[in-house]
Amino acid sequence: MKNEQPVVLIGAGLSGSLLAIFLSRRGYKVNLYERRPDMRKHSLSAGRSINLALSERGIHALKAVGMLDEIMELAIPMKGRMIHGKDSSLSFQPYGIKENEVIWSVSRGELNKKLMDLASLQPGVEIFFTHKCTGIDLTSGTVHLENPNGEAVNVTGQTVIGTDGSASALRMDMMKAGRFNYSQSYLEHGYKELTIPALPDGGFQLEKNALHIWPRGSFMMIALPNPDGTFTCTLFFPYSGTHGFDDLNTEEKVLAFFSSEFPDAVPLMPNLTQEFFHNPTASLMTVKSEPWNYEDKVVLLGDAAHAVVPFFGQGMNCSFEDCVELDQWIEKHPNNWLECFQAFSKSRKPNADAIANMALENFIEMRDKVAHPEFLLRKKVEQQLEQRYPQHFISRYALVSFSTIPYHIAQEKGAVQDRLLDQLCANITEVSQVNWEIADQWFQGIN
Ligand SMILES: Cc1cc2nc3c(=O)[nH]c(=O)nc-3n(C[C@H](O)[C@H](O)[C@H](O)COP(=O)(O)OP(=O)(O)OC[C@H]3O[C@@H](n4cnc5c(N)ncnc54)[C@H](O)[C@@H]3O)c2cc1C
Repeated sequence: MKNEQPVVLIGAGLSGSLLAIFLSRRGYKVNLYERRPDMRKHSLSAGRSINLALSERGIHALKAVGMLDEIMELAIPMKGRMIHGKDSSLSFQPYGIKENEVIWSVSRGELNKKLMDLASLQPGVEIFFTHKCTGIDLTSGTVHLENPNGEAVNVTGQTVIGTDGSASALRMDMMKAGRFNYSQSYLEHGYKELTIPALPDGGFQLEKNALHIWPRGSFMMIALPNPDGTFTCTLFFPYSGTHGFDDLNTEEKVLAFFSSEFPDAVPLMPNLTQEFFHNPTASLMTVKSEPWNYEDKVVLLGDAAHAVVPFFGQGMNCSFEDCVELDQWIEKHPNNWLECFQAFSKSRKPNADAIANMALENFIEMRDKVAHPEFLLRKKVEQQLEQRYPQHFISRYALVSFSTIPYHIAQEKGAVQDRLLDQLCANITEVSQVNWEIADQWFQGIN
């Protein structure tokens, strides 16, 4: 496979930039084409997914290319969820039981810039900005692009990898080729990003080391910390209805709504109404596709193959894990893109489906369940299980966020564990009332 021809990558987002590093380390020339201008020289548009939660799978991928330390300089640990009640009460729910079980808030833009910097330094990697892919001729593997002058140009390589995100241009042509399964489903909720500014001395107005959630049943707001003392808030809210973006169409309505639903946040958001009307409302969707490759000509990876809703904080982590896994298949099939792509697509797809489904379920957990006493009790019982039976019990959240166990196994184990939790939590109101004999017997059964 290592001929003089480059591997053509489309999309220098998070996964494209990281994959370029993996490929270069295996000795490939990489030509990476990105639709946007170089974000290291042009500012990013505000209001679009400003920070992301990085967890074990993403960390593992960054470690694999020796980039973890540089990225972690940009990251803030979040040890748990800080739940904000409608009465302005606060309660903290830790994510894990061990000190290192935290997730990390990172700026999406800074992370992307750093990965581009690191990719550009790798031997054989060249990034072409303002080159928009308009499609691909699948039989020859020729990629059609529009260059910065708006002219059509064609490029070829030894193969093509689509890291061009959830609206992938390459995927569109794979759909036209037939025998390609595809589904796309939008949530009825969209999202809008808002800001809690820093204190005058650069300090944080809320607890720094937490992911803040204002769960309100059918909708929610969250806030993640940034290194400059600000928080990026995201309102996940239906597009229409009495409680919907459509209805919040005047400054008065926005202020009244926020004051009633998020009373403790409003005094911290001096630019609330300006930002609300200035920042875009963006949609959220799940994309599933199969197979991810067309013969040996092209393979999709990251959101291009499987966009997931953000409620498990795993879209980027999963995409980074894709890069690790594709790299492993390249190692196993060093001279055969076809076998490599087929194996990658086949083994990875059940995991992408599993995290897509778990992310949808987690939306209900975040916006609704976290505020209910039964859920809090269940979480406490779950933590006790982790402490009492460390050999046997790791919560589904921990399997997804703090391990690299395949997502589909985390999902299966989670379903089994739910049955145990159902039994342990039936008819009790406090952890002290749990009948641990049930758990003892359960775990004896699996020995
Ligand atoms: C609100 C929100 C919050 C999120 N929070 C988290 C989180 O906490 N944790 C997490 O792990 N994930 C999170 N995600 C998901 C995460 O952002 C994505 O999964 C991740 O960005 C996917 O990376 P990617 O490289 O596949 O796609 P992208 O990052 O979208 O990159 C695609 C790149 O391709 C380029 N491109 C697109 N079309 C073309 C074209 N035709 N030609 C050339 N270039 C093109 C784009 O400009 C872009 O640079 C969140 C997403 C959203 C929307």
